[in-house]
Amino acid sequence: MSAAPTRINLASDNVVGASAAVLDAIVRANADAEPSYGADRYCAQAEAALAQVFERELQVCLTATGTAANALALAALCTPWGAVLCHAESHILEDECGAPEFYSGGAKLIGIAGVAGKITPDGLSDALARLSPGVARTVQPAVLSLSQVTEAGTLYSLEELRALTALARRHGLRCHLDGSRYANAMVALDCSAAAMSWQAGFDAVTFGATKNGALACEAVLSFEPALTASLPFQRKRAGHTLSKSRLLGAQMVAYLHDGHWRDNARHANAMATRLAAGLAALPGVRLPWPTQANEVFALVPEAVAARWREAGIACAPWLSRGLPEGCSVGDGQRFLRMVTSYATTPEQIDAVIAAA
Ligand SMILES: *Cc1c(COP(=O)(O)O)cnc(C)c1O
Repeated sequence: MSAAPTRINLASDNVVGASAAVLDAIVRANADAEPSYGADRYCAQAEAALAQVFERELQVCLTATGTAANALALAALCTPWGAVLCHAESHILEDECGAPEFYSGGAKLIGIAGVAGKITPDGLSDALARLSPGVARTVQPAVLSLSQVTEAGTLYSLEELRALTALARRHGLRCHLDGSRYANAMVALDCSAAAMSWQAGFDAVTFGATKNGALACEAVLSFEPALTASLPFQRKRAGHTLSKSRLLGAQMVAYLHDGHWRDNARHANAMATRLAAGLAALPGVRLPWPTQANEVFALVPEAVAARWREAGIACAPWLSRGLPEGCSVGDGQRFLRMVTSYATTPEQIDAVIAAA
């Protein structure tokens, strides 16, 4: 059995390009001369739009990648001898090639296990109990970093977020949210941007746009600018300050304009819901946890995975850690991740189900 040329790609939500609205905005911003290094009017508009969306003044640091945004946010919040507590499968720990450690000058990332990509208050308490604040022997508890949407495609409720940040704050930690899929989570929870960020106890958020319609644009948002005054310097030092910064500003402005980001996220989430419903109805297919945003995780018979490959349907093989108790990848089974985007069509989803 051979893999056909890819016809439908659900391996991730960054396999699609930018939305027409974002691409048009880049082309328009290309026309005139603009000040460089963040002093352009598009970056100013992006900051104003973000302040409006998040309902307060904030510090904005635009980057072209989520890894840079996460690493810069953590470097600003954490000393080199600090500890960043995060989920054991988190992007900052597993998928960023040590960038948070590098940018922070050596901060230690400590992974906390948890089912379905989520940290529990008990898990956080246990991790905190293993550190000794004030003792110059262990790294010092500094930051709690959570992902929303999680790496398992699940969501923390607002109550769960608030409980974890409150616990962290009682121990003197700062709180960071990796929101590479912020919009997907926000529309799924039907809450405001403020409710899922500073109102939920976060000092800084990585606000992703790339996976939901931008070409390459993410933002570190700091609600405590006094804590993160080093951000512009760290960004420049890391080689992440674009001279033609309008490229980033224009993307963010278009992304937030007229609810484009919310519309894109609602569409992506709806496609995932459609996919999950179709998959759940297939014999031999099991979804180990609920589909809450735009990612579907499924245990599927090898024969189904093979039929998808032959039909040119791409999905991502996934590691089985974090599966709920009593749920494992059996013989003849594959564990796959499928991610929908703003560009996924209902016809594509129906074709995936039909091909199974
Ligand atoms: C995609 C992703 C990022 C950002 O990754 P980049 O490839 O560096 O843009 C960060 N966190 C999570 C959870 C992600 O899925």
